[in-house]
Amino acid sequence: MSKKVQGNDSFQRINYLYQISKQMCTLNPGLSSYYGNLIVNIAKKNVLKIHPDVKRQMCKSCRCTLIANVTAKVSIKTKKKSKIIKWTCNTCGAKRSIPIQKNIDHCLWIDRPEAVVEVIN
Ligand SMILES: [Zn+2]
Repeated sequence: MSKKVQGNDSFQRINYLYQISKQMCTLNPGLSSYYGNLIVNIAKKNVLKIHPDVKRQMCKSCRCTLIANVTAKVSIKTKKKSKIIKWTCNTCGAKRSIPIQKNIDHCLWIDRPEAVVEVIN
């Protein structure tokens, strides 16, 4: 029954693990980190690039899934002319800043900060 994971199957496996990690992050951040680490390890092993969306949603330090105002504190700062989203992981306290302008061509990502601005204001 068990399928060997190799080559393109790794993508599916990563997607699958990502879904679990996402579901777990509110219930059990520790498990979310665990699956996050699995994703990174599989990607490394198979020399795969993790999708930027997945990477952005993952804490750099503990690798649990970051969800704005749920598993991470989010604030938006304006620096000179560009806006920066500051994420603080609720699980390990790691901080990261993501400039919004960089991702201006990215629909999925643009949708998010707008939703965040609404929550904060
Ligand atoms: Zn973290």
